[in-house]
Amino acid sequence: MSTILTIDLDALASNYRYCCEQVSPGTCAAVVKADGYGLGIRRVARALHHAGCRRFFTATHREGITLRSLLPDVEIFVLEGITPFNIDHVPEHRLVPVLINLQQARDWAELAAASAKPLPAIIKIDTGMTRLGFSECDLQTLAADASLIAQIDLRYVMTHFACAEDTSSTMPERQLERFGRLRALLPDAPTSIGNSAGSLRGPKLAGDLARVGIALFGGNPFGANGIPLRPVLKVQSHILQLREIKQETTVGYGATFRAKPGMKIATV
Ligand SMILES: *Cc1c(COP(=O)(O)O)cnc(C)c1O
Repeated sequence: MSTILTIDLDALASNYRYCCEQVSPGTCAAVVKADGYGLGIRRVARALHHAGCRRFFTATHREGITLRSLLPDVEIFVLEGITPFNIDHVPEHRLVPVLINLQQARDWAELAAASAKPLPAIIKIDTGMTRLGFSECDLQTLAADASLIAQIDLRYVMTHFACAEDTSSTMPERQLERFGRLRALLPDAPTSIGNSAGSLRGPKLAGDLARVGIALFGGNPFGANGIPLRPVLKVQSHILQLREIKQETTVGYGATFRAKPGMKIATV
């Protein structure tokens, strides 16, 4: 066999434990969206569960259902929230939606009213990413609607950093400040704030429930700076052709790279 891809599940477990040590114990959730960052959600989740992880975030309800069939006892949060395509499946598989706007909150509350009990959810507040999450205006509308709020069993209030890996940026602090102000509009609940970069900077940027993704797989968000994360993925292959450049020449599609004399070009 000419190419071997190795997934090191011991390294994954070790990275999970390292992340847990950076935040309060038991408060590190694993983000396993995009099929476990491409490494296979089943094997990744099983290994993380074995390492003690009991809370997971997926992007879609389908990933959530896959996870549920594997791990009956864990908490599974779905980042897409509630959509017309998943509302019938989310409660059935005990998935907890991350509600990102008023429409989602209303749909979830309506379902709760129909089942005569509040339904669990996370509320995500946008504080500068400008991607998913409640705007300030919509959050005020939500907060002012007591009957709507009463239908939601609020597990966490969440936000997401735009650039926590940039330690010279003041944006994370500004996002935290905004988050503190906005979440005060809602009933008191634990927080979920940091991605890998935020959480590795300590408990303040992690919140009560860290959401680590790339760090689990060995990706150091700060570049090479001595954080003891272990690479989970290794690809080995053999060199098919090796050529020595005698005269300056372009290499490959688009002819954008210029190789200088003395360079060696390997094709793997
Ligand atoms: C992907 C994602 C994470 C994890 O981010 P990493 O940088 O991979 O740790 C956390 N929170 C949300 C909302 C995400 O979409």
